[in-house]
Amino acid sequence: MIIGIDDTDSRKGGCTTYLCAVLVDDLKEYGEVSTPRLVRLNPCIPFKTRGNGAVSFEIKTNTNAEREAEIKEIVRTQVCELSELREEGTNPGVVFIDSNVLNENREERRGILKRFYENAVREVLTIEDAYRLISELHFDYFGLKNKRGLIGALAAASFLLLQRNYRKPDYYDFTYELIAYRQKERWGTPRVIDETSVWKADAATYPLTWDTVDVANGKIVFAPHSPCPVLFGIRGDSIDAIYKTYKLIHTEPEERKMLFVTNQGTDFHLIRKLETEKEELQDYHSYILDGVVGSDPRTVEGGHVVFSISLSEETLAGIECIAYEPTKGFRDIVRGLRAGDAVTVFGSLKKKTLNLEKIEVRKLNLVIDKNPRCEKCGRTMKSAGRLQGYRCKHCGTYRADKAKEVIERVLEEGLYEAPPVARRHISKPLIRMQMRMEGADKKIHPSR
Ligand code: ATP
Repeated sequence: MIIGIDDTDSRKGGCTTYLCAVLVDDLKEYGEVSTPRLVRLNPCIPFKTRGNGAVSFEIKTNTNAEREAEIKEIVRTQVCELSELREEGTNPGVVFIDSNVLNENREERRGILKRFYENAVREVLTIEDAYRLISELHFDYFGLKNKRGLIGALAAASFLLLQRNYRKPDYYDFTYELIAYRQKERWGTPRVIDETSVWKADAATYPLTWDTVDVANGKIVFAPHSPCPVLFGIRGDSIDAIYKTYKLIHTEPEERKMLFVTNQGTDFHLIRKLETEKEELQDYHSYILDGVVGSDPRTVEGGHVVFSISLSEETLAGIECIAYEPTKGFRDIVRGLRAGDAVTVFGSLKKKTLNLEKIEVRKLNLVIDKNPRCEKCGRTMKSAGRLQGYRCKHCGTYRADKAKEVIERVLEEGLYEAPPVARRHISKPLIRMQMRMEGADKKIHPSR
């Protein structure tokens, strides 16, 4: 049986991954429990608490119906007990799916689950979409309050089903996170973490582990500051490297820890839009878009850096792009752009503004248009009126067009990213691209 769970926590406390870790530990005596999955869904969803995460795991019970009923009851009890039900935005949902669901109508069912998972990461779904899937495939479920968590629960369970044989990363890219949880009596108090040990541990395993620290900003980023039960999470591509880091880090004693297979660090939320599809851009979606910088970037109140890009040569339709203040040094890269640069932007669209996560500078505009110089005296010629060319006031010489001058640029072509302090869980760190030889034809500038 596969169990998917979501929406049990609030900003004030709780954590769906903690609930999952407790269940995985408690249920071990009822059957063989898989490595749980931590699935990040659409990062733009307004009702998310933090990272829009949902969880799932599989438990093998040899399809013993009595056992399964007992397990469902344990899950129900723990969800009721560990959910922050008093908080308005907490709407738990749980689904129970037969592990053999793909044995019948395999291709059709696989397609349905794939569509649901992918839409949960890239689109905005409704609770009706979740109920439709539940009734179509006859899933057992349970929920509390408005049950919105069923969306995430179904998506997390679908991810596990589709990617169960997770030694095939070509189907769905994945990474790992080892999360350590605090002892209950410490929840809500400052975390005791020996920072020196974290920097050393990170140095010993980066880049097989990543986003533990932010070197450029001198910050440790693997531990939250909220009152939730998480002590820290070590993210990476190698289980061995993650455990090596774990052993080198000194902290307060933990209550438990759990390794998750996750879609974090994969960029799965990004939709690549073609030139012809650009009118269809919608808020609350994340895109990869090619364009040309239309205006030189400017810094606005709050330290955010803004510029426009035109997406289509014919219509000159464009959007604004923004690098928010928390992206720190990434803004310097963005400030280095100038009108005419060909770029690819990566990020989420809100109020028709793209919140930049990455940018590829594909071709720098090295040419600057200037008033021409007079051939006789060398002085700068003046405009002779709109669309009437240029004239030298002294010699009377005439030139129809502006002169083109090649300039030097400080900015280099290639891919740039927001640093770990400002990175979304689902965003792929450039160092992963470099390690995996993706975009071998491009120059990659990891933030570290
Ligand atoms: P945390 O990261 O701390 O676990 P969270 O950020 O995951 O918290 P939730 O409390 O799970 O936030 O709330 C997100 C809610 O949005 C859930 O009810 C989930 O079912 C729903 N949801 C997730 N993805 C989508 C989507 N694509 N469309 C509509 N609703 C979604």
